[in-house]
Amino acid sequence: MNILLAASEVVPYAKTGGLADVAGALPKALAQTGHNVSVVMPRYNLPKISGLGEQMPGALMVPFDFEQRPVSVFVDRSGPVPVYFIDAPQYYSRPGLYGEPDDAERFGFFSRAVLELAKALGEQLDILHLNDWMTGLACAYLRTVYSNDPFFSRTKTLFTIHNMAFPGVFSPSLLPKLDLPEWLNRTDDGIEFYGDVSSLKAGLVFANAISTVSPKYSKEIQTEEFGEKFEGLLRARSHVLFGILNGVDYDEWDPSNDSLIAARYSPDDTSGKTECKRDLLRSFSLPEDINRPVIGCISRLSDQKGFDLILDVADRLMDRGAMLVVLGSGSEYIEKRLREIRDRRPGQLGLYIGFSNDLAHKIEAGSDMFLMPSRFEPCGLNQMYSLRYGAIPIVRAAGGLDDTIVNFDRTTRQGNGFKFHEYDSTRLLEKAYEALMVYADQELWRALMQNAMRADFSWKASAARYGELYERLAADTSAVGV
Ligand code: ADP
Repeated sequence: MNILLAASEVVPYAKTGGLADVAGALPKALAQTGHNVSVVMPRYNLPKISGLGEQMPGALMVPFDFEQRPVSVFVDRSGPVPVYFIDAPQYYSRPGLYGEPDDAERFGFFSRAVLELAKALGEQLDILHLNDWMTGLACAYLRTVYSNDPFFSRTKTLFTIHNMAFPGVFSPSLLPKLDLPEWLNRTDDGIEFYGDVSSLKAGLVFANAISTVSPKYSKEIQTEEFGEKFEGLLRARSHVLFGILNGVDYDEWDPSNDSLIAARYSPDDTSGKTECKRDLLRSFSLPEDINRPVIGCISRLSDQKGFDLILDVADRLMDRGAMLVVLGSGSEYIEKRLREIRDRRPGQLGLYIGFSNDLAHKIEAGSDMFLMPSRFEPCGLNQMYSLRYGAIPIVRAAGGLDDTIVNFDRTTRQGNGFKFHEYDSTRLLEKAYEALMVYADQELWRALMQNAMRADFSWKASAARYGELYERLAADTSAVGV
């Protein structure tokens, strides 16, 4: 099949979260199964993108703001699949990826450019795979301005939700500028959303099929608690709503071949992990007390990730002898609270505020446990990385965390982590104490580490499921749904 995946961030070019990991790894895995896959993303002004790839001849003409806008397209063919970059400096040459006042316009333009690029490439698409609100409007364009375009006559769309919490809302007055019909500002069959319009809703209403990144999250988002006010729509479309767990790119995240960590190790020989732990403690100026448990945490600092619980229990975990290492950036309030704890308890909390892939690898390799008590978690990648690195996850049973982590049973020695259910700091503390207790029994801990490190969440299985879904979609000849 001829497949184009469009995403606003793709590893290794630009990343703020799990979406980029998926957009980087899934196309590679699909290409290995024989599909013809390409990827398209904006050409941000980032060191990893500037100067990369070759400029394609000619310009793409993108109808936008009542005119035809010429844009250049770059392509990087050095990897396993071609990656196309839409070059519109007025939109993508900004300090960050998102959070600009004209985001709706920036990514509306991207969505439109994706479709024009598909046409310019010339080969009819079987599947257009769109991701999150930034590409949702592509579904709206296909159902309106391109609805009679023979080029897209057999194209089916899959819209994947990586995070429901970002609805991509904007004023309906922007619709004409985006070259979208004003009737879209309707509630039942359009994209109206509480007085605004929503590009996420465009994906949810107009895509042929919808997927989320874990089976549990696909159920959760049909409830009021997690549906972010889209639960009714999602329930109505539940017959075309699927949950496919993300995979892990073990080329990037495996301690047996990770060049970013101090020593290599594997389930057959875990001795290198001790060296990694030393290296981690040194990097964070923590005492090199190798027998004390180290609990790592790598995360966007946001309410979603359960930081109110972490801040609640941090002191008590340190009272029990644990050291904490936290890497993250985001909410200023959470940053401030973490700094306070670090200043109050020197030598017990290592903290790096910022984004650092190198440190993320070091933390996975050097930690004994990994804390991820998310309020909600569409899939979560870090708990799966942690399993492979033998940093035993302590998680809340939300979304993908529930699908991937099996609570450790000391009697049967089955399970790969520690999992609590109710969103409550006492429940987290109980689980963390249990983890510390098992850690104190080194033989039991070794058994648990083996279970964790041998778990396999490679992309192969997930890519096969996407492949099946694409095939189901492509085989369906009706205009809507699968
Ligand atoms: P989300 O997409 O909700 O942020 P995921 O667990 O699915 O959560 O993916 C997060 C990804 O981003 C992981 O690859 C994680 O290692 C990475 N990450 C998050 N924060 C940081 C940071 N401060 N520095 C480096 N990597 C980070």
